[in-house]
Amino acid sequence: MKILVLNCGSSSVKYELYDTELGRALAEGIVDRIGEERGVADHGQALELVSERLVAPGTGALGGLDEVDAVGHRVVHGGARFTSAVKVTPEVLTAIEECVPLAPLHNPPALLGIKEAMRLLPSVPQVAVFDTAFHAGLPPRAHVYALPYHLYRDHGVRRYGFHGISYQYVSQRLDVLLGGRLAELKTVIAHLGNGASVTAVYGGRAVDTSMGLTPLEGLVMGSRGGDLDPGVLLFLQQKLGYPVEEVDRLLNEESGLLGVSGRSNDMRDILAGVEAGDERCRLALELYCYRLRKYVGAYAAVLGGLDVLAFTAGVGENSPQVRELVCADFAFLSLRLDPQANAAARGCEAEIQAEDSAVRVLVVPTDEERLIAEETAALVLG
Ligand code: ADP
Repeated sequence: MKILVLNCGSSSVKYELYDTELGRALAEGIVDRIGEERGVADHGQALELVSERLVAPGTGALGGLDEVDAVGHRVVHGGARFTSAVKVTPEVLTAIEECVPLAPLHNPPALLGIKEAMRLLPSVPQVAVFDTAFHAGLPPRAHVYALPYHLYRDHGVRRYGFHGISYQYVSQRLDVLLGGRLAELKTVIAHLGNGASVTAVYGGRAVDTSMGLTPLEGLVMGSRGGDLDPGVLLFLQQKLGYPVEEVDRLLNEESGLLGVSGRSNDMRDILAGVEAGDERCRLALELYCYRLRKYVGAYAAVLGGLDVLAFTAGVGENSPQVRELVCADFAFLSLRLDPQANAAARGCEAEIQAEDSAVRVLVVPTDEERLIAEETAALVLG
């Protein structure tokens, strides 16, 4: 089957045309600067541009749009309602709409993308794949915040978790790499991209995860600081007079690696800064790795042990230095890296623990588009 995978953000549409028989992408690309002065006007025009590219004589991957068997959409927030991917129906659209307050930046463009794809390809099934679904089985002790209970019951204020599409893909690969035994292994997966989170997995499902109601909680990220005393927010507003929009910007865009280093949200720049002797870059790197180490330790306690630690996404796949800093001093869990294997693992699947390590440490490049395509194909074939 040929599946068009769409990932619609507020100002961009990423797309991939995936062939499930060949097991690879036939075309991929991005339309960005949507809504900007010289960019395309809106998501409708962006999708028209995508379809023009796909069928362009000579360069396009398709003879005609009728070759698309289904469209798979990435939807960031499925709330408590969606525990797996679903075919889009009017009821599903309404339910995704109801999740907008939980993801005001992410769900509206995904909805636009679905509606425009339905307009462009009216007879093609559309499937929504949710970033929250992998975490749907988190037990109450992991997903309820210790706030007044009515906020949970009446307003859905709870931990949802994100990066679920990536965790699901990496789990499937780990299961293959570990000889079909993932379900019985106590596993921690760290997804370290621009946004970063870490998840404890057992029995093929998440049992705890670091992101919460929103993608702000947990690890130190490119421009988000993760865990924070909520009193800091009161201090900013009550003592320093920050308006709420500025607190929002500070938390989402000005913190994390960027905030601490004052240089960049990109780990490559931070590592280069460390090389050049920049103290604030060193501090940012230390905070980043220290926070992740705390989570790995906490999740080992949650799982009652640790059999497998896996790294994925930009930093996890490409930075031996970060993996080394995270894994150092875990000898008390009998976790030891093989320095050569770690140094050699860049952007490819690899096992990097030392021979005498009781914990297996793996690098698994993520492929969210592929998972969306496979979930979409499976639902459509029914
Ligand atoms: P996104 O969340 O946007 O999909 P990615 O998974 O592509 O992000 O990860 C982006 C991050 O990966 C950036 O911080 C980037 O610096 C980091 N990264 C990419 N390559 C390397 C590398 N060779 N060494 C360290 N960090 C890297």
